[in-house]
Amino acid sequence: ALQCGIVGLPNVGKSTLFNALTSAKALAANYPFATKDPNVGVITVPDPRLNKLEELVNPQRVVPTTIEIVDIAGLIKGASQGEGLGNQFLANIREVDAIIHVVRCFVDDNVVHVDGSVDPVRDKEIIDTELILKDLDTVEKRLEKLKKQAKSADKEALRNVETAQKIKAHLESGAPARSAQLEEDEIALYKDMLLLTAKPILYVCNVDEDSVHEGNELTEAFKSAVADENAEVIYISAGIEADIAELETMEERLEFLQDMGLEEPGVNRLIRAAYSLLNLITYFTAGEKEVRAWTIRRGFKAPQAAGVIHSDFEKGFIRAETIRYNDFVSLGSEQAVKEAGKMSVEGKEYVVQDGDVMHFRFNV
Ligand code: GDP
Repeated sequence: ALQCGIVGLPNVGKSTLFNALTSAKALAANYPFATKDPNVGVITVPDPRLNKLEELVNPQRVVPTTIEIVDIAGLIKGASQGEGLGNQFLANIREVDAIIHVVRCFVDDNVVHVDGSVDPVRDKEIIDTELILKDLDTVEKRLEKLKKQAKSADKEALRNVETAQKIKAHLESGAPARSAQLEEDEIALYKDMLLLTAKPILYVCNVDEDSVHEGNELTEAFKSAVADENAEVIYISAGIEADIAELETMEERLEFLQDMGLEEPGVNRLIRAAYSLLNLITYFTAGEKEVRAWTIRRGFKAPQAAGVIHSDFEKGFIRAETIRYNDFVSLGSEQAVKEAGKMSVEGKEYVVQDGDVMHFRFNV
């Protein structure tokens, strides 16, 4: 499954947010999750379309799609030099698909700040510096190897040296790898280096309850500091999320949200932001046994999408009977869709669309 790692300085609210986000899994009691690493949690992706399909199909069970979230605590100043188990945490970041960087934008004298004052811009720079230093280390090591290879005057090796030097200079200027301007033929090496600052990033400003809607001075300062990064910034109150997560039933949660003047829990916004950050879409399978949502990358062709269910589906793919979500809902059933001639039979080249309801035919 897709993994997002939560990073941020100590005491900014990472664990509070992590616990709130991942406790929501209790609501998807059907989902067969074994507890694994306590730092890895599962967030079910809320999707009203799934509820609609449930209504229409009336299946034995409904399974939402999920994103995994990893609490990468312990990233502090000096981590790239191995401070405070730094290297281990940095290694954890290497494994995730995207980074959720939490910064503290709430003022609360009862909560100690590791650097003495609340300053999200400075905090972000501290984390960035550690990640950039670690990447510099990676690039320098690689550069040494590439230089040795380039002695043979191999054209490609020489080009790789150039690329590595370019990325190195970019990092040395204090910028994350993701903002480096690279040519087409430099991308392969760039990707291969698995740099931490190349990963897509989502900033979460952890705010107090009064600032969830409009933000505050701290979030404004933060937003302008990251304006040129092309990154998404959202406001969440970890404290509120924790309160919501403690409520047992969906009804109680909705009531609480209404009282707060909120339309939905912050986790929903976070998931939507992660989806758009990672270019993800959802398709559905809808049978009497199970109605289920599946996450894929935008642009996946039908066999790749089938492969998310099982690799055999991809290998033996024959065709995909496909119904647009809107047709399914407006006509009300698979049978009605068929009768109206709205079910299409798609082949290997079909690019799956968000909301497609699919039935795969395959050889075993
Ligand atoms: P971490 O070290 O980043 O994981 O931070 P924690 O989640 O452990 O939070 C540190 C402290 O800040 C705890 O005492 C939390 O209760 C408190 N805290 C977290 N989020 C909020 C928030 O949104 N508002 C306020 N006032 N306190 C918070």
